[in-house]
Amino acid sequence: MDRQQEFVLRTVEERDIRFIRLWFTDVLGVLKSVAVAPAELESAFTEGIGFDGSSIQGYTRVVESDMIAKPDPTTFQILPWRGETHGTARMFCDILTPDGEHSLADTRNVLKRTLARASDMGFTFYTHPEVEFYLFESLRTDGPPVPVDQAGYFDHVARGNAHDFRRAAITMLESMGISVEFSHHEAGPGQNEIDLRYADALTTADNLMTFRSVVKEVALEQGVFASFMPKPLSDQPGSGMHSHLSLFEGDRNAFHEPGAQYELSKTARQFMAGLLHHAAEITAVTNQYVNSYKRLWGGQEAPSFVCWGHNNRSALARVPMYKPGKGVSSRIEFRAVDSAANPYLAYAVLLAAGLAGIENEYELPEPTEDVVWDLTASERKALGIKPLPQSLAEAIDIMESSELVAETLGEHVFDYFLKNKKQEWAEYRAQVTQFELKRFLPVL
Ligand code: GLU
Ligand code: MG
Ligand code: MG
Repeated sequence: MDRQQEFVLRTVEERDIRFIRLWFTDVLGVLKSVAVAPAELESAFTEGIGFDGSSIQGYTRVVESDMIAKPDPTTFQILPWRGETHGTARMFCDILTPDGEHSLADTRNVLKRTLARASDMGFTFYTHPEVEFYLFESLRTDGPPVPVDQAGYFDHVARGNAHDFRRAAITMLESMGISVEFSHHEAGPGQNEIDLRYADALTTADNLMTFRSVVKEVALEQGVFASFMPKPLSDQPGSGMHSHLSLFEGDRNAFHEPGAQYELSKTARQFMAGLLHHAAEITAVTNQYVNSYKRLWGGQEAPSFVCWGHNNRSALARVPMYKPGKGVSSRIEFRAVDSAANPYLAYAVLLAAGLAGIENEYELPEPTEDVVWDLTASERKALGIKPLPQSLAEAIDIMESSELVAETLGEHVFDYFLKNKKQEWAEYRAQVTQFELKRFLPVL
């Protein structure tokens, strides 16, 4: 038993915790949870808890289904929404095979592996996500969902039936040690944004898994329904998860160089060049659903083209406002990721793309300060600006021949992911939609 584990055991006793939920995610980023009683905790730490991996998306085949979840004591946290007495806590887990090896299906470990590569190069990877999502009156799928209000960007919503929502959600997040930097009403009706404070990417990814549960729980408490679906309403903005990225060398922001253009260091420029160079290959991971492409190609400030700029919200990568001389905040905002991505895999491929830029000393193209959607196709061609994939089918096609993504995800996750996504596409393609009936039935 190490000190962290002993701390968890003591806290469980002192705080009257009756259930400890062991959390992990499947390959697509869906949270999985198994609860253990306090008496089982010690053996959970030493031996782990066995479970049937064949029933989890992307885990093992049926013939080798035994898996072990081993809790990471540094992630112990009491779940405030379960009440003060007979409480519930959670820990994220490492997933192991019966031989004690890391499971190849564990996407948290995919990120850890990539972070270890960065660390070998002397870097710590920090991320700061801006998470957008919608609040709807209820969960309905028989027609467009109904937003809880008709407000817009930065509106202060006094009415509507979720007026305490952000305050309640943020209070709960803060009580779980997750710091929130900004929050506001977003541009769509019922759409909100909450920005988490930057942290190392593994912590951010864990925080995002917690965040999604908290937002869903608080919404239910208020009698509404929260959704992270990338594009739930066809004529309103989608929900992005713009992510601000930076590399640190010790305490020093490796992206900062006083006097350089936008105070961006060579490392930052190469990292961004890597993001752009590999953008199309990693899109299936950062935008993993059929629906994701309706956001990317639906306008409303979602990026559709591979380019970067300073104050350009149509660009895929952006160097956000910086305070000259305050180098610690130098960072790159990558805007394609959506709120339904598996954060472990998304941060792993973003980091891998950036590191490839540094290792291979990619040249950063010129910035684009035009609104790229307004340029003609030939103007974009002349500027060398390529489109992102336009559908899940195109994205998986490009990913399938990507060495970078194959290496980063590892063979198991890579193969499973492609198989799952091809299936999703095949099922989607087979649908005869409302659009087709309305458009074609009367005239054909
Ligand atoms: N909702 C937009 C998107 O899908 C982003 C709006 C913003 O710039 O915050 O990416
Ligand atoms: Mg936003
Ligand atoms: Mg942003």
